[in-house]
Amino acid sequence: MSITRDFLLQFSLVIVPFGIYLAYLFGHIRIKKHIRIFLTALWGISIILCISFPVSYGYNMNHDFRIVPLLIGTLYGGRITGVILAALIILYRLYLYGTNIGSLITFLAIIIGFSPILYFQKKFGNSSKGNRIKLAIMLAGFYCLVGASLVGLFRGISAESITVQIAHFGLAAGFAWLMVVLIENMAEIYTMRKELHNAERLRLIGDLTGVFAHEIRNPMQVARGFLQLLDTPDLPASTKKHYIKLSIEELDQANDIIREFLLLGKPSTENNEDVDVGNQLERTVNLIQNYALSKNVSIETKIDVDCMINGNTQRLNQFLLNIMKNAIEAMPDGGTIVASCFFADDSFIEIRVKDEGIGMLRHEVERLGSPYYSLKESGTGLGMMVSFQIIESFAGKLHVFSEKDIGTEVVARIPGVKRSMNKPV
Ligand code: ADP
Ligand code: MG
Repeated sequence: MSITRDFLLQFSLVIVPFGIYLAYLFGHIRIKKHIRIFLTALWGISIILCISFPVSYGYNMNHDFRIVPLLIGTLYGGRITGVILAALIILYRLYLYGTNIGSLITFLAIIIGFSPILYFQKKFGNSSKGNRIKLAIMLAGFYCLVGASLVGLFRGISAESITVQIAHFGLAAGFAWLMVVLIENMAEIYTMRKELHNAERLRLIGDLTGVFAHEIRNPMQVARGFLQLLDTPDLPASTKKHYIKLSIEELDQANDIIREFLLLGKPSTENNEDVDVGNQLERTVNLIQNYALSKNVSIETKIDVDCMINGNTQRLNQFLLNIMKNAIEAMPDGGTIVASCFFADDSFIEIRVKDEGIGMLRHEVERLGSPYYSLKESGTGLGMMVSFQIIESFAGKLHVFSEKDIGTEVVARIPGVKRSMNKPV
């Protein structure tokens, strides 16, 4: 019974720090160096705890699963992380027990058992999921085998010690398998989520393509008209100049529209920066203004100056377009949208988009954000899900208030930042 308890303790000593990483840090820290430092610290804590509370198999035989954090830390964190973790094992062992046979065994086990892990680290990074799992199991198994052989060599072999070593070997390999499968599956979900974001953005662009084509054709036709007029004989020089000026203005406008459109299609970089929400809100409204007018919807804006947040500009724009589009689509008979952004009292920035549309019932509001939940014939039901995720990635919260047949208000609360001094105001 106590073996089971000891084993479960070891299990949680590895799983809990990893769980903390998944729950609080995964996807939140974006700088690779920081991720590495955090992971090294977490796996280091795991290793120290594993060594401190080993599984007691009886017959004076203690074992622990330090190999699992060492293996996973090295394979996913890189060679430097691995060497730091290996050094930590040796130093901590020396600190606890001083120089004895056990410390020598640990030292030799690290030299022999850990070297292949370092060697295969690069290969692991380039392997498929299936091969990664196999490689991790083999490396964990090899490390245990080395440990078992060294113990046999220095302490002698008995029937009991062989049983314990076999059990330990199996458990360590199983444990390594579980961790790699867990990490790989999480990474797969994360990548899928990112792909979904891109898919949704492309769909949005597809939806708006017709609108933009119209937008660009208009100034082109006006410019064409002026060019034709320029061909009129005996045209006074001042009129000619005026026509040319108007044509250039129209072409500039077409150029602006194309630039905005291209910006929307650009894949979002992961980098966060300080963004002025007011500017982006204004841009989005300009972008979608004519689409709204074609549906008899007018958009009013109330924008405070200096609403700065830390986020990704393209993702913010994607969010604004998503909720504006929903607001427009919620008003088939037209109406007014009020889009505002301002400082809320507690250093938060609030973005509000309010429509007078069809509204939603309570259970419909509760389902918002679930993938593929759409009440529209040609809807994808991804817009709100992506919107929730975008605001979360800015450490903010998204709230939706809605009343059937009255209207809906979408409110995003995002921590504000001070405008940095070295940027132009
Ligand atoms: P889609 O717009 O493709 O249907 P979304 O995730 O953007 O997907 O929205 C999901 C559903 O939520 C919509 O189908 C609609 O029924 C409802 N919804 C979203 N925004 C509003 C709104 N402003 N007013 C009324 N219903 C809305
Ligand atoms: Mg939508």
